[in-house]
Amino acid sequence: MNKIYLDNAATTPVRKEVVEAMLPYFTESFGNPSSVYQIAQMNKKALDESRETIAKYIGSQTNEIFFTSGGSEADNWAIKGIAEAHKNKGNHIITTKIEHHAVLHTCEYLEKHGYEVTYLDVDDNGLVSPEAVEAAIKDTTILISIMYANNEIGTIMPIKEIGAVAKAHKIPFHTDAVQAVGQVRIDVKDQNIDLLSLSGHKINGPKGMGVLFIKRGLKLENLIHGGGQERGRRAGTENVPGIVGLAKAMELTYTDFDAKIEKMTKLRDKLIKGLLESIPYCKLNGHPTKRLANNANIGVEYVEGESLLLLLDMNGIAASSGSACTSGSLDPSHVLLALGIPHEKAHGSIRFTLGVQNTEEEIDVVLEKMPAIVQRMRDMSPLWEEVKNAMKN
Ligand SMILES: *Cc1c(COP(=O)(O)O)cnc(C)c1O
Repeated sequence: MNKIYLDNAATTPVRKEVVEAMLPYFTESFGNPSSVYQIAQMNKKALDESRETIAKYIGSQTNEIFFTSGGSEADNWAIKGIAEAHKNKGNHIITTKIEHHAVLHTCEYLEKHGYEVTYLDVDDNGLVSPEAVEAAIKDTTILISIMYANNEIGTIMPIKEIGAVAKAHKIPFHTDAVQAVGQVRIDVKDQNIDLLSLSGHKINGPKGMGVLFIKRGLKLENLIHGGGQERGRRAGTENVPGIVGLAKAMELTYTDFDAKIEKMTKLRDKLIKGLLESIPYCKLNGHPTKRLANNANIGVEYVEGESLLLLLDMNGIAASSGSACTSGSLDPSHVLLALGIPHEKAHGSIRFTLGVQNTEEEIDVVLEKMPAIVQRMRDMSPLWEEVKNAMKN
């Protein structure tokens, strides 16, 4: 049985071209870019070119790109780095309730160290309004951190408008763009972004590789101390194969971009429409139109998401429940709860996220199998029995 992988928001397969670009830097070209001899200097050149490529695709200067060990480090660095560097000005940070844990847990950590954090509510679709951001600003606000697009429900935030609010109040604006990169065109200048996190493995690049864009002139404390790499701002011998791979992934993800997004959007809409039509008592979570081209998050009533995942897996389909159960906790997703979805319904949500490699045939298979799987689960549920009886009466 062919496996159908629809969990691309969790991670993506590395593209062949990316592996090929990386390979020489493990063996022949292994030199430390900080050394003076030729094999090392070749690596210095590969680093510079990679930086240039990434800068080009987010509209930044080359010297505003800093390599990190992934999206989590980039988020940590942006938030802790600003908090530390601007503590004389204030201690207040604004973010949202639906951020990735790399942002939320970093903010919670700072709360224990004297910072004050406002976690903004979102509306039913997962949007936060620029007006709400503005209303939360205090004299002591030193950072606004709001994700570009949500990893569970795919909602795309009004980033440019929020950035404009931050700019008007001269407050640094960070966005976790890990899910947006490769699905949205990014221009940090046009969109008023001061700090942006991205990650390699969400765009068919290597794991353990990310970037923090830092606008020139912005004061930011270091997170990783040590050697003088990354112009003295992020220590550690550069992960040259990873950096080259990330740049290649960036280039590929923005090649034939419009056609790719159009194709993915079509598949996504076919999947959403097909599921909503064939399964009673289910609805789309997240914004109907302001959403990532690859995200279909469906709330299915009277089923338990984790069991649904297992049955899908037995049918060769890999998806995600959008809940935190995979991390060992039985609490439903903080994102779904923030949308106002009650606990029991949040447990029955399932997230399909497409990648460039997915085909229409795969979507057809999901559409064929999913209704029967849901029916089977409901037939075993006492709750469903009650619903059926209520319908009869
Ligand atoms: C995956 C993800 C991260 C973490 O990135 P890593 O490279 O896995 O550390 C951060 N934010 C969002 C929105 C993500 O989806």
